[in-house]
Amino acid sequence: MTEKRIPELDNASIIIACGAGVRTEEDFALVKDLADCLGADIAGTRPAVDRGFISRGQMIGQTGIVVRPDLYIAIGISGSHQHRAGLHESAVIIAVNPDADAPIFTVADYGIIADLREVVPRMIRARLAGAGFHQIIEASIQGVDNAKLVHG
Ligand SMILES: Cc1cc2nc3c(=O)[nH]c(=O)nc-3n(C[C@H](O)[C@H](O)[C@H](O)COP(=O)(O)OP(=O)(O)OC[C@H]3O[C@@H](n4cnc5c(N)ncnc54)[C@H](O)[C@@H]3O)c2cc1C
Repeated sequence: MTEKRIPELDNASIIIACGAGVRTEEDFALVKDLADCLGADIAGTRPAVDRGFISRGQMIGQTGIVVRPDLYIAIGISGSHQHRAGLHESAVIIAVNPDADAPIFTVADYGIIADLREVVPRMIRARLAGAGFHQIIEASIQGVDNAKLVHG
C-alpha cells in the first residue's frame, strides 16, 4: 500500500479501467490501444494489479483511489462495491461485460453486454475512422452475436 498515486488520474478526463476479464497480454494490448486512440489514462481493479497490468497506484476503489473523470470505461469489471466506491463520481460510465447481471451495470450510463475481444477492436476502428462518442458506442456491438447495448 506504499505505492504513490498516479497524478494523471486525478485530472484525467477519460479513464479506461480494466478488471479480471482482461485476462491476457493480448486483452491488455487492446485496452492500451483504445486508451491511446481516446487519449485516456489506464486504471483498474485489484485483479488487474495482481496480474501486473497496472500498478497499485492505479487501483480504483475503497482501498485504492477515487476518480472523477468525464468518462470512465470499465472493461471486464464486475463492479464490486469496493471498486464502485472509487468511480461513482464519474460523469459518464460505460461498462463492457458479457454478464448482464454484473453489478457494474447498476451504475453504468451505457452497458455494453458483450465480450471485450469483440467490442474493443470495434471501438478502436470506429474512433480511428473519426466516429464521435455515440457512434463509437453504437459501433461497438455491430455484428456481434448476442451482444446488447443498454442505456442506464
Ligand atoms: C477490504 C477490501 C477492499 C478492497 N478494495 C478494493 C479496491 O479498492 N478496488 C478494487 O478494485 N477491488 C477492491 N477489493 C476487491 C474487490 O472485492 C473485488 O474482488 C474486485 O473489485 C473484483 O475485481 P474485478 O471486477 O476486476 O473482478 P471480478 O469480480 O472477477 O469480475 C471480472 C468480470 O469480468 C467479466 N469478464 C470475463 N471475461 C470477459 C470478457 N472477455 N470481456 C469482458 N468482460 C469479461 C466477468 O463477467 C466478470 O464480471 C477489495 C476487497 C476487500 C475485501
